Amino acid sequence: MTLTIRKIIVLSCIGLILLLGNVLAVANWLAEKGVVDKANWVREEFLTGTAIAVIVALLILLVSPKNGRVVSLGRRCPVCDKRLFGDPKYCGECGSRV
Ligand SMILES: [Zn+2]
Repeated sequence: MTLTIRKIIVLSCIGLILLLGNVLAVANWLAEKGVVDKANWVREEFLTGTAIAVIVALLILLVSPKNGRVVSLGRRCPVCDKRLFGDPKYCGECGSRV
């Protein structure tokens, strides 16, 4: 968890709270602009059950194992699988870039 990620989380929390506080105003504004009607049309035209199933399947398939490894606390060298401490750029065991 880097500082940038924490800042993004805090900012998105603030934005979410502000949005929830003004949810009625936002909904009325969207209805006035005709966005709601367009969204309904898009949903009926394109977001059928089959399309949602395909999108969900793609999202599951697109989550690469590399990302999961970066998020987890104990990082490992991709070459020799040695556990890495801290945030090194190179593996201490085999010298490969991580
Ligand atoms: Zn290594």
